[in-house]
Amino acid sequence: MSIQHNLSEIHQQIADCCQQTNRTLGSVKLLAVSKTKSLAAIEEAIQAGQQAFGENYVQEGVEKIQYFQAKNVNLEWHFIGPLQSNKSRLVAEHFDWIETVDRLKIAARLSQQRPTALAPLNVLIQINISAETSKSGIAANELLPLAEKIVALPNLRLRGLMAIPQDSDDPAVQQQAFSRMQQLFRQLQLALPEQQIDTLSLGMSGDMAMAIKCGSTQVRIGTAIFGARN
Ligand SMILES: *Cc1c(COP(=O)(O)O)cnc(C)c1O
Repeated sequence: MSIQHNLSEIHQQIADCCQQTNRTLGSVKLLAVSKTKSLAAIEEAIQAGQQAFGENYVQEGVEKIQYFQAKNVNLEWHFIGPLQSNKSRLVAEHFDWIETVDRLKIAARLSQQRPTALAPLNVLIQINISAETSKSGIAANELLPLAEKIVALPNLRLRGLMAIPQDSDDPAVQQQAFSRMQQLFRQLQLALPEQQIDTLSLGMSGDMAMAIKCGSTQVRIGTAIFGARN
């Protein structure tokens, strides 16, 4: 199936999920996860109207960003992989969003390295919601202290939360993690009423419907758009 076809299927599924859960059409943004995929594949998605892309690897992401910048294509790039501090400058200088902030040290570096000519870097804090040792992210009880410190950094803009819940086909297991994220997101909004906390990044190709049911405002979809990664 073509990328264009896949994108329109996913838009339809998102619209169906919104309708079933009484959510406003357009309240869920689609981030196309293009890691390991070619420039040609991304170009096809752009032709089909896709504007926001997610990348996991700094170098690969920066090359893609620069390629499309040189062609004057206006896109929005999200860094969604684990970030080592020695690569933070590249993220600060090239991306629009980072969704995986999980410690103050990285946030402080990103703020310091963000060129002031650019808009502030949009930040999501990653929560290790299923408490898996293999995954990055902070524990729920660390959220508010970290969020308050991030808000004080001048060149960042805290926008919300991201999580990658434990992989499960069991709707009850999925729902438990997603509902907890929804609660934390509300807590964060209440704790920081002056901030624009509007983004809950939850849901991938396998669990999008449950994520939307639980208030996700952004799903991150790779495989269902571009096909399997090898
Ligand atoms: C790869 C990746 C995705 C996309 O996963 P698919 O199952 O291919 O849709 C989403 N979020 C993150 C953080 C990823 O690393």
